Amino acid sequence: MLESLRRIVQEVNNAPDLERALTIIVQRVKQAVGADVCSVYLNDFDNRRHVLHATDGLRAKAVGRVRLELGRGLIGLVSERAEPINLDDAVSHPRYQRITDTGEEHYHGFLGAPIIQNRKVLGVLVLRQREKRHFGDDEVTFVVTLASQLAGAITFARTNGELARLQDDGIPQRFLPGLPASPGIGIGTAVVVYPPADLNAVPDRRAENLDNEAKDFLGAVEHVAEDLDRFAVRTQAHLSAEDMALFDAWRLMLESDTLIDGTLSRIRAGNWAPGALRETIAEHAKVFDDMDDAYLRERASDVRDLGRCILTHLQKLTAAPIQYVPNTILVGDELSAMQIADVPREMLAGIVSTTGSGSSHVGILARGMGVPAAMAVADLPVGRVEGRELVVDGYRGRVYVAPGPTVRAEYQRLAEDDAALTSELQALRHLPAETTDGYLVPLYLNTGLVSEARPLGIEESAGVGLYRTELPFIVRDTFPGEAAQMSNYRQVLELFAPRPVTIRTLDIGGDKPLPYFPMHEANPFLGWRGIRITLDQPEIFLTQVRAILRASIGLDNLQILLPMISTVGEVDEALLLIHRAHDELLEEGYQVRLPPIGVMIEVPAAVYQCEALARRVDFLSVGTNDLTQYLLAVDRNNAHVAKLYDEFHPAVLRALLQILAGARVHGREVSVCGEMAGDPLATFLLLGMGVHSLSMGAGSLLRVKRVIRSISRARAREVLKVALQCEDAASVRRLLLDALEAVGLGGLVRPGK
Ligand code: PEP
Ligand code: MG
Repeated sequence: MLESLRRIVQEVNNAPDLERALTIIVQRVKQAVGADVCSVYLNDFDNRRHVLHATDGLRAKAVGRVRLELGRGLIGLVSERAEPINLDDAVSHPRYQRITDTGEEHYHGFLGAPIIQNRKVLGVLVLRQREKRHFGDDEVTFVVTLASQLAGAITFARTNGELARLQDDGIPQRFLPGLPASPGIGIGTAVVVYPPADLNAVPDRRAENLDNEAKDFLGAVEHVAEDLDRFAVRTQAHLSAEDMALFDAWRLMLESDTLIDGTLSRIRAGNWAPGALRETIAEHAKVFDDMDDAYLRERASDVRDLGRCILTHLQKLTAAPIQYVPNTILVGDELSAMQIADVPREMLAGIVSTTGSGSSHVGILARGMGVPAAMAVADLPVGRVEGRELVVDGYRGRVYVAPGPTVRAEYQRLAEDDAALTSELQALRHLPAETTDGYLVPLYLNTGLVSEARPLGIEESAGVGLYRTELPFIVRDTFPGEAAQMSNYRQVLELFAPRPVTIRTLDIGGDKPLPYFPMHEANPFLGWRGIRITLDQPEIFLTQVRAILRASIGLDNLQILLPMISTVGEVDEALLLIHRAHDELLEEGYQVRLPPIGVMIEVPAAVYQCEALARRVDFLSVGTNDLTQYLLAVDRNNAHVAKLYDEFHPAVLRALLQILAGARVHGREVSVCGEMAGDPLATFLLLGMGVHSLSMGAGSLLRVKRVIRSISRARAREVLKVALQCEDAASVRRLLLDALEAVGLGGLVRPGK
């Protein structure tokens, strides 16, 4: 059953549209369970009904015609209860309802399983048997598991189908939901980026020169053939004749008409070579996937491997720089900071990722750059949107593909409001971040996620509150040496001098692994990360600290920040190493001053030991991104639990109060450098609590400054007092939104004036 399950899910995932996906489901499930009928009803919420969308066993004509009022019959019961219902004799059930237009006789055996995604019932998968039949536990588990796996595929195929139809007859398009990651409205053209040699991620693209595409494809096939020959010669001595036959089989597959002619004819139909190859391989692999013989079925993965090899060569042959267009909306399944940084800033109008969340590093980067972004737009068929017009609503995390004239006009208006807001904010650039009752809150910049000669926000910030040092480590294939690091740090220290620059020591691990420093961990966020790595590998830490200290000579605007601290021992050890590096440098004749040193409070343990930590260092900086993740046990990058990730959770607010109290005992200042600092809603709370400074991405500086200049500290305290009485994040959020609207600044966190 497990094998059938895997195959069905794979087939459904490869289906070109919803109709095909559902047909596959009903046929395969009916066969696997040996039922008389298998049908899928999907819920049409707009018209409050269940509609028969596919069947194997009932009259084909009934598809689309049978419509049951939402909540009626046994289908309605499954949907209502959101749990499977298994009846030996459905006819005797009070909710039984015979549907005549399906050509139904009385079916006795009934098994219905809800198809659920994100707590919402999308439809019902139903099995029927003429005779009385009690479906066994195995069968129920099989159908329930399949239904849960299918929810995503159904949503995906539905979107695919809608998009495909849109091209033909212009059916209006609904938005695709995702998570808000960076405020603003982006209207532009999709440019899809995808990881190399990932055949499934290759988009369709119109070929510019068919002959060249065909030539490249044949060239790549030739290269793979040569590789195979070379491997065969190399491994001859170690393999049996039987195993060597595998190479012949691959050669045959590679040179088969199905592969060559299939791809060439798709190229002739207008697709570029990688897209044509993807379609051919998917079709070819499916033939094997459908075979009953287990050995032959395994050949499907050989076909896919072969496809990947050809694609690798194709990409080598055709590796041209990506062509960005004015108003590029960058789209990808798993965008990286590097891919975003590759787009000239003046061309980048928006960012859409099918995975991640607002608090992942790509979301942080988008906000830092002030580019509207939506993450976790899981239903976006990435392979089909290249070159199409997209609207990104970064406030609500929505994406429209090829919007109709009404939607487009509305968003154009909102984009104009946004542009007006941006220019209005520019007027604040040289004004202090001071409340109406004269309280100054210095606003610092978070930078370092991408390499830029002149980061945005230099002039409007009080300095750098968080310089993330991971980048130079990530973009190389070995650890950077002291000199290379020093020149990096010197650049940023010089750029902001005499304003302070807080450089954080290396925080790799978690979602920032190094390609040349493999770590295989079941729970990377709870694993070897940040200070834990650098204390275990003191040579890495010492080299970095020496580079940081040397970079500050003569400027003296440096502060050092230690990430991921969870024990006082870590601070003591790190301080010892910093002092050692400092002493060494003095001995070597460098005139270097010991800078203020601070720790990040981003692990719950550090909150409870705040006082002991504050006693050891000069300042504290709260990393609310990790603190929220660890306090709420919600992975900050996981779209499935993103709804639970909320910095306004009462537990986070109480942790912040505790940190401030601990720091106060030793007279230490507390800064917030997580994303919460850049959220205009949070300004009321942080100001009310008495946080000394805030550090944020450049895109947030003026928005937050606008709030600070519009309210008094007394008002912030009042709002905080009410917020602390709220028992959940949603109530806190509502309260803050009302407070922001009351001073006429709601437009900072939602579209429109
Ligand atoms: C944080 O965790 O809030 C933080 C600022 O660090 P990073 O986002 O780099 O983990
Ligand atoms: Mg962190």
